[in-house]
Amino acid sequence: MKTLENKIAIVTGGGRGIGRSIVIDFLNEGATVIAYDKVFPADFDEFASERAKEGQKVFKKAVDVTDTEGVQKAIDETAKEFGSIDILVNNAGITRDKLLLRMTEEDWDLVLDVNLKGAFNATKAVTKYMAKQRSGKIINISSVVGVMGNAGQVNYSASKAGMIGLTKSAAKELGGRNVTVNAVAPGFVETEMTHQLTEEQKAAYLNIIPLKRSTNPSEVAGVVTFLASPKADYITGQVIMVDGGMVM
Ligand code: NAP
Repeated sequence: MKTLENKIAIVTGGGRGIGRSIVIDFLNEGATVIAYDKVFPADFDEFASERAKEGQKVFKKAVDVTDTEGVQKAIDETAKEFGSIDILVNNAGITRDKLLLRMTEEDWDLVLDVNLKGAFNATKAVTKYMAKQRSGKIINISSVVGVMGNAGQVNYSASKAGMIGLTKSAAKELGGRNVTVNAVAPGFVETEMTHQLTEEQKAAYLNIIPLKRSTNPSEVAGVVTFLASPKADYITGQVIMVDGGMVM
């Protein structure tokens, strides 16, 4: 039996990168997946139809996670169309890196809006359904820099640290309804986001990673899939590092 059979899952930022890998892992475990994204990459429809040929069910919904009403509406529509929402992954995220003195109010607001308010919006909207059905799994994609900080990322690391606070508080509020809330904190993952890093920045990361390598989105997705599965029923309020040992 696959671990996510008959489960309905939403993955924000599910179009590409780590989000796409989570979508694939969930599909392979039998879930029906609705990817939310602001703009879907050109190959997403082809990806979905290839998966449909294998009997896998993946759908897309254009949602900007910063739009509180839009997120609420999308989640209400998803719940109505699919009958329940069992899993939410708050994965949508952006960076606008700059040293503190050069960072603008706009850089700060945008990153906090997408990464932290976006997670709040979606979490609040699914809670109604999960609390009522007395089951659910929420997984927030934080980052190692939310724990250890990083020069040039005061906005991003604050948003990712905020997600950890959101995770722990929501876990305490929702535990009585059998809803678990956990965070996954990846380290250096090869995606479009990290392709923006300079060679010097990449070398600096590798230097502090005991496993001496970066990772790929599927190694993050595997941990998210575990947390979404019944194997993790007794785990809540935790932050799982997927970082080659960078933070310990
Ligand atoms: P990515 O390749 O840049 O993908 C980010 C995804 O988020 C895209 O699908 C993007 O969609 C979506 N998104 C951005 N703004 C959105 C919005 N307002 N509403 C809805 N969707 C939006 O990044 P990634 O590396 O896969 O990162 C995924 C998550 O992992 C992020 O939360 C990131 O902070 C976290 N993370 C990444 C790393 C790493 O090393 N890569 C490390 C730690 C944590 P569009 O195409 O529409 O922009």
